Formats: sequence, structure tokens, C-alpha cells
Amino acid sequence: MNQRFSKARQFLLYSVPMGTVWLALHSVTPTFSTPKKVLIIGAGASGIAAASRLKKAGFDVTILEARNRIGGRIWTDYETAHYPIELGAEFIHGSEVVTWQLLKQHHLKTNKALKDKQIYVHLNNTVGKLDKLVPDDWEDDIWESAEDWLDRGESDTSLRQMLDSEKWLTPQHSEIAKLVNNFYACDYGADLSMLGFYGLLEASYEGDSDEEGDFRVKKGYTALIEKMAENLDIRLNTPVLSIDYSSNGVTISDKNKVTYTADKVLVTLPLGILQSGDVEFLPNLPQYKIKAIHGIGVGKVNKVILGFNEPFWKKKMAAVYTHLDSQIWWRPGFEHESSGSVLTALMGGDSGARYSEMSEQEAIDAALGDLCQIFGKEAQKAYRWGRFINWGTDPYSKMGYSYNPVGVVGLRKVLAENIAEKVYFAGEATNTIRPATVHGAIESGWRAADEMIASSSS
Ligand SMILES: Cc1cc2nc3c(=O)[nH]c(=O)nc-3n(C[C@H](O)[C@H](O)[C@H](O)COP(=O)(O)OP(=O)(O)OC[C@H]3O[C@@H](n4cnc5c(N)ncnc54)[C@H](O)[C@@H]3O)c2cc1C
Repeated sequence: MNQRFSKARQFLLYSVPMGTVWLALHSVTPTFSTPKKVLIIGAGASGIAAASRLKKAGFDVTILEARNRIGGRIWTDYETAHYPIELGAEFIHGSEVVTWQLLKQHHLKTNKALKDKQIYVHLNNTVGKLDKLVPDDWEDDIWESAEDWLDRGESDTSLRQMLDSEKWLTPQHSEIAKLVNNFYACDYGADLSMLGFYGLLEASYEGDSDEEGDFRVKKGYTALIEKMAENLDIRLNTPVLSIDYSSNGVTISDKNKVTYTADKVLVTLPLGILQSGDVEFLPNLPQYKIKAIHGIGVGKVNKVILGFNEPFWKKKMAAVYTHLDSQIWWRPGFEHESSGSVLTALMGGDSGARYSEMSEQEAIDAALGDLCQIFGKEAQKAYRWGRFINWGTDPYSKMGYSYNPVGVVGLRKVLAENIAEKVYFAGEATNTIRPATVHGAIESGWRAADEMIASSSS
């Protein structure tokens, strides 16, 4: 999630009554004498954030993680270049998000935020600055349409339909229309035609303060997650198959036929896994929960990473958006580059879904083909290696990040609700205000931990 639409966010902030958001950032000390045993499913940002808070509060916590590594959708490659390459989450969005507390606590630094003037656009066979190629009132126009829609009290609709009369989205401007769609698709994991307008207002990212832009963790996102996970009991290579909460406590079985028992369980499975039914709940989850799981959208977001002998782009260019399927290209080595040349493409929504259908070689060829359209034959000549990270078919995520389809408001709160103070839920998809982000996942883990602590001390 890139969230480059600060105006959108300001607009949302002032236009929408968000209701009361309960987010306890400070834990309560429980009064029980025997440590409560908690199992956490998933060692992503939310599971690890929850575990460390629970452990600090005196709980006996074990995390069961399917993969042979921690981090989930945070995954940094330290092998390929002399700088970190992010295969999953890339940026910290904004200067006020909770991630900064953790970076400070663990003495980790970030690179400088990407500046607007470093972001380029590929349109009509030209690569240039956004304001030169796209009329600079396009964003204002869009949000004026949104305000009109609200003023008229219209019911929920797709963003695409709401913007139907927008001149930038008419067939005469098909490349601009595709570009504008791509801005949203890579940010939200879904095309304009799939994104619900009211859901977009609900996920307002209020308080994140993105004015300063997007930051990378200097040592890579995995460095942060490893620090957060220090001294936690994490069982890797432990894919959970079932969660039985039918009697006292919970019993969890994994693929290795090992059984674990605990007083409570925190489920941080990605929405894609919850929708797939790969993990069985005994008894079945209540209908309202199933409705929430299937109502929220599983956004497709993938990455292709290409290495080159030498750069063929402008030194000042940190990223380039395109109307093509590859959507946005970044330079993971932007702040480090003295040698080596790597570009990362991120594609969301329908483009992301098309990539998910491809083999690794097909994805690399398609992305390289786009680069040749953007930069010319130099791209092909300089090409050295490629890698495709297909999050859509990854067996332990089956998605990029979640989004709100048309008509979906309030379901994330339902997804977040615990069942009988025994089965708790966290993960980015449970965060109403800040879904689809690392900081949203961390907040959700802390929220679930605080709920457990509060229920154990009463
Ligand atoms: C390509 C991409 C780019 C992104 N870019 C950004 C960005 O720039 N900035 C940002 O803030 N966010 C970004 N995000 C989103 C961010 O990565 C996620 O919101 C966040 O990491 C989710 O954390 P989580 O704990 O909710 O889920 P996850 O990280 O998915 O953790 C869930 C864990 O559950 C495990 N699991 C799954 N099934 C089982 C099972 N059966 N048994 C046991 N364990 C299981 C998984 O392996 C995983 O470790 C990006 C995501 C993607 C995919």
C-alpha cells in the first residue's frame, strides 16, 4: 500500500464521521497468578506484535508459523544486492504511524522519504514528471466528484462508477484512465471498478500523516521484525490445519500431526487463507464471521524484481508509474546505489491477478517487455536476472492485501471481534482504519493482545 493520495486522506478526514475507534496503545497488567497459555497462529507483523505485548504482560505465548521464516508478508532479500530488496512490504507510510515507536525502541533507522519530484510517470511514450504529463487538477477533480457524491447522499458504488463523468477517465484519455486506475490498483490491491467508495472513506488512515511521504527501513523490514521477535517462542515449519474451540480452552493440530493446547488462541491468518478454508475451525465459525471473511476483498498484489548490468534511467528517478500492467517501478537501491542496478515492479488489482496466472519466466518476460516500452531497448540489453514474487498463489498468504469492495463497510470490525473470549483475531484485514499496511497489522496485534489481557484480569 503506497497511499500517495494525501488530499484524499484530508478529504476523508473532514468528510466522514468515523465513529469511535478503540485502540488501546498501553497494556493493562493482569492479576492472574498462573500464566495463561496463548497460541498465536502466524508470525507476521500482527502475530509478533501481539506476542511480545502478551509476553510482557506475563502470558505464556507460543507462535505457530507455517513458513520456515518469520515476517509473513514482510520479507527482505539480503543476498542479491549490497542493499536490502523488499519482496513484500516496502515502505513505512507517513511520519506518525506506530512503526516509528518500534524503530526507535530497536535503534533502527530509515532512509529519507521519497519526494514527489523524484517520482516519474510513463504516459504516451514519454517518461516525465507527473505534473508535466497529467493535468495537475486531476486529483482535485476526482475528490470534487467524491464530495458531490456525498452531498447528494448517493448510496455506495464503485469508485469507477462514481468517477464516470470524470474527463480523465473517458475513452479519449485511455492511457490517463489506465494510469489513474493503476495509482489506485497498486495502492489498494483492486481496480477502480472493484473499490467501494464508502469503504475507501472508512479506511481513512486518519492520523498517519503522510505529508512527508514513504520511508524504507535502512536495514530492511525484516531487520525490524527480527528485533520485535527476539526472545519469543516461535515454532517455524508448523502449518496449522485445525483450531478446535469446542470445549474448555483450544486444541490446535498441525500438518506434522502435532497437537497443541492453550487457554486462548489468536488467529492472524491472512484473509486469503481464511477465505480458502485451509484452516478448519471446530465448530465452524459463526455465520456473521463467515460473512465478514468473505465480504472483505482479497487484493492481488505481486512483485517482479529485475537486475541489470547498468542503470538506463535518470539518476534522480526514484520511481516511475506506468499505464502498463507493471504499474509502478521502484529502485530498491535508490539511497544506496554506488554499483548494481535493480528495479522492482509492483502490480495490483486486475494486473496483479493477470500476473498471478503466470509462471516466473512469463512474469519476468512481461515485466521486461513493459520496461522496454518505457525505456527502450536499453532495458533488454542491460537485463541480467529476474525474480517473481507471486503473493497471490503463495500458499500461506493467497493474497497481497485486503480492500473494501462495493457495499462493504463495518465488516473489518466484525472480523476483529473475538469469540467467547477464547478465539481472537488480528492481522491487517481486521484494522478498520489502517488495513493493508504493516503499521495496521501491528496495531491489530496490540489491540487483540489488550483484549486478551483485559479479559484475563476481570
Ligand atoms: C507485495 C506487497 C507489498 C506491500 N507493501 C507494503 C508497504 O509498502 N507498506 C506497508 O505498510 N504494507 C505493505 N504491504 C502490506 C503488509 O505487508 C501487510 O499488511 C502486513 O505485513 C500483514 O501482516 P499480518 O501479520 O496481518 O499478515 P502476514 O504477514 O501475512 O502474517 C500471517 C502469517 O500467518 C502465517 N500462516 C499462514 N497460514 C498459516 C497456517 N496454516 N499455519 C500457521 N501459520 C500460517 C503466514 O505464513 C504469515 O507468516 C505489502 C504487502 C505485499 C504483499
